[in-house]
Amino acid sequence: MSIKKSTLTTSAGMPVSDDINSMTAGKQGPALIQDIHLLDKLAHFDRERIPERVVHAKGAGAFGYFEVTKDLTRYTRADFLSQVGKRTEVFTRFSTVGGEKGSADSERDPRGFAVKFYTHEGNYDFVGNNTPVFFIRDPLKFPDFIHTQKRHPAKNTKDANMFWDFLSLTPESIHQVTVLFSDRGTPSDYRHMNGYSGHTYMWYNAKGEHFWVKIHFKTEQGIKNLTREESTKLAGQDPDHATRDLYESIEKGDYPSWRVYVQIMTPDQVAKYKYDSFDITKVWPHSDAPLQEVGVMVLNRNPINYFAEVEQAAFSPGNFVPGIGPSPDKMLQGRLFSYHDTHRHRLGANYHLIPVNSPKGAMENSYQRDGQMRTDNNGAEGPNYYPNSFDGPLPDPGVGMPSIDISGIAARHAYTLSDIDFVQAGNLYKSVMTDLDRDHLIGNIVSHLRNAQKRIQFRQTALFYKANTDYGIRVAQGLNLNIEEVKHLASVTQEERVNATKG
Ligand code: NDP
Repeated sequence: MSIKKSTLTTSAGMPVSDDINSMTAGKQGPALIQDIHLLDKLAHFDRERIPERVVHAKGAGAFGYFEVTKDLTRYTRADFLSQVGKRTEVFTRFSTVGGEKGSADSERDPRGFAVKFYTHEGNYDFVGNNTPVFFIRDPLKFPDFIHTQKRHPAKNTKDANMFWDFLSLTPESIHQVTVLFSDRGTPSDYRHMNGYSGHTYMWYNAKGEHFWVKIHFKTEQGIKNLTREESTKLAGQDPDHATRDLYESIEKGDYPSWRVYVQIMTPDQVAKYKYDSFDITKVWPHSDAPLQEVGVMVLNRNPINYFAEVEQAAFSPGNFVPGIGPSPDKMLQGRLFSYHDTHRHRLGANYHLIPVNSPKGAMENSYQRDGQMRTDNNGAEGPNYYPNSFDGPLPDPGVGMPSIDISGIAARHAYTLSDIDFVQAGNLYKSVMTDLDRDHLIGNIVSHLRNAQKRIQFRQTALFYKANTDYGIRVAQGLNLNIEEVKHLASVTQEERVNATKG
C-alpha cells in the first residue's frame, strides 16, 4: 500500500494512527515503551537545539543574486567576476554580534554582513560587518574582547565595567568605538546599512599579478539609523523588527540591493603606504584608494525554512575561489581557522553537505570521507587516497595563488601604539560627522560609559581626547569629569595612563 502524501508518519516513514493519545496500559497509564511514535517524537524534540553561535547568534537571511556591472578582470581572474552581466546566486545573512539568539535586533552592536556566492569555481564567502574597521588587530585578543561584550561571570548581566575596562586598555579600538557609538551602531534595520570587508584581501589576475583590495557593499536603500531612544524602545516593543523587515520587504517584492565596490592598491603602493594596509583598525581613505564599482547584489527570495537555511548557514572568510586570497592581516588569519572550526563544532564535520552550504555552481571532488552525517554517496567507489592511479581527482597547479615574498623573525611582534592610531577616529569625528551626529555620539557614549567606574571613565575619555580634543572635552563634560585630569591622562603613555587609573 502506498502512503498518501497527506498521511502523518514517524521519522522512519511509518504511518501514524494517532498523534493525540499516547499508548498506555489502562486509561490512566503508565505509558508503554512500545509507543514508538511517542519515543520518536520526544527523543527528537530533546535534540532540537544545536549550539548557538558564540558570536553573531541572532540573524536573518535571504537568497538573491550578484550581477557584475563593471569589468575588473585586469585585477582578478575570479570566474564569477569575468563578464559584465554575469549573475551568481547568493545567500546573505545579517546579524548582530554580541546578543544571544533571542536578543533584540536593535541593540547597539556591529552588524554581521555575510554573503555566500555559489560560483562555478566553488563557494566564495564574503564575511564582513556594517563597520569598516574592528576593535582589535590581533586574534589572540578576540575571545577576551567578546567576553567583555557578553555577560558578567557572576551576575550574568551585561556589565559596563567589563565593556569599558577592556576597550580603554585596548586603545586601538578607538576608531571602531567611535563608529559603534555613532548612530551607525544602531542601524534602522538590515536593509539600510552598508557592508565592509574590513580586512584587506588579495586579488590576482590571469597573469599571476596580485593586488590588495577592500570590498564595500553600499546600500541602495540609503543609510538609516535609530537614535538611542528609538532603539531602546524597539528592543522592548518589537525585538525582531529587523528580521521581520527583511522578510516582509522581500515577500512584497520590494527587493533590497547593494552596489558593490572595491578599493584597490598595488603591492608597491601598500609597501609605501603611510598606514599598515593590513591593520583592520584603519580604513583606506577614499582619496588614497577610490571606490571602483564591480557589481550589484539583489536579495529577492526568502528562505523556506529558517533553521534549515539560516541557522545552519555556515560562512567562512577561508572560502575563496581562484582569483581571491587572504592577506597577511593577523585578525583575518585567526578567522581563517576559527570559522570552519566553529561550524565543525556546531554542525559537524560534514556541514558542507547541508544544502545551504554545499556548492551549487560546482561540485565537491575531494578525498575527504566518512564522518557524522555523511549524507551524499561519500565518494562512492572512487579512490580515497592521493596520489592514486585510479582516475581520482587531480590538483590543478594553474589555480594557485601567486607566490609572495614574506620573511621575518618568528616572534610575538607587538604593534607599537602611536598617535597615528587616533587619526582616523579623529577624522571621523571632525570631518565626516555632522553637528547632529556628534551630539548623538556624545549622548550615546555618556549614557553608557557613566555606568562604569570613575577611573575607567577617565581612562577611556582620555582616549577620546587623544582622537580629538573637542570629542574628549564633551564626553568629560557629560560625565562631570575633571577636564584637566583628562588632558593630563591623554598626554602620557598608555602604560602611565593604565598605572594612574588602576583599581
Ligand atoms: P570620505 O569623506 O571619503 O568618506 C567618509 C565615509 O564615512 C563614507 O564612506 C561614509 O559612508 C562614512 N560615514 C559617514 N558617517 C559615518 C559614521 N557615523 N560612521 C562610520 N562611517 C560613516 O572620507 P575618508 O575615506 O577620507 O574617511 C574618513 C573617515 O570616514 C575614516 O576615518 C572613517 O572613519 C570613515 N569611513 C571611511 C571609509 C573608507 O573606506 N574610506 C568607510 C566608512 C567610513 P557612506 O558613504 O555610506 O555614507
